[in-house]
Amino acid sequence: MASHLLTQLRVRPGTAPDLTNRDTDETFGWDKVEAKAELEVVKQRLDALQVRLFAERTRSLLLVLQAADAAGKDGTIRSIFSGLNPAGVRVTSFKVPAGREVEQDYLWRVHAACPAKGEIGVFNRSHYEDVIVVRVHHIVPKAVWSKRYRHINEFERMLVDEGTTVVKCFLHVSEEEQRQRLQERIDNPEKRWKFRAGDLEDRAKWPAFQAAYADALTATSTSSAPWYVIPADRNWVRNLAVAKVLLDTLERLDPQLPAPDIGIEQITVV
Ligand code: ADP
Repeated sequence: MASHLLTQLRVRPGTAPDLTNRDTDETFGWDKVEAKAELEVVKQRLDALQVRLFAERTRSLLLVLQAADAAGKDGTIRSIFSGLNPAGVRVTSFKVPAGREVEQDYLWRVHAACPAKGEIGVFNRSHYEDVIVVRVHHIVPKAVWSKRYRHINEFERMLVDEGTTVVKCFLHVSEEEQRQRLQERIDNPEKRWKFRAGDLEDRAKWPAFQAAYADALTATSTSSAPWYVIPADRNWVRNLAVAKVLLDTLERLDPQLPAPDIGIEQITVV
């Protein structure tokens, strides 16, 4: 049952996500071949619901993806959204702030990228970088980043109040799985373009990143904008789990087609 799965994945508001005790290699008893087939079924449901959300044009959905390097944010987006209408999906990848982004407050670029009514927005990294990488790299002092949890909760609350459903997934990989994936990026010429020297510097700070993630998830998993911790050592588990979170969220949103013009059924196109 999806709802049982979701309860298992969700970080209950006010509690810590207990990342060290969550199995990154979890399979939920799923079989790989069946899971891939089920993903296709889930994607068809997502496609049908996206059409309704787009037609309704009154609400939107925001999926936030955060993860350590090589946990598979790009792969998740490709696998889940490949079957949806691109006109209704808006993917934004947040990089190191540049230009005007540096001069504005940290939420400025984030707010501008939020989905419009009828859209599904996907954040590949997000405002959570401003309490994670910024903290680990000491880009701003603690006195500054520690206040951001409250800003983020209030910002997301505002989005929710104004019609955006916010759902957040942390792709949880093990340190060993990340090592193998980074090595693969070095060894495989087709994947070398993905490798950044900074990945190794960040990897050396693994405990600090995990601590920053744990604190961020604890402080910002709310009933209106919950965090889900997705076991991500196996791509097929990760993809299906995120797709199920999304499907459950969209089903509960239950978007409706707009009412047709009165008397439309009497019209014959000649
Ligand atoms: P990705 O790893 O997401 O595929 P990149 O290799 O271009 O893409 O990495 C983007 C980098 O931008 C990451 O190292 C990330 O930590 C950094 N970044 C994103 N947002 C911020 C921010 N607000 N402040 C500092 N660094 C950030």
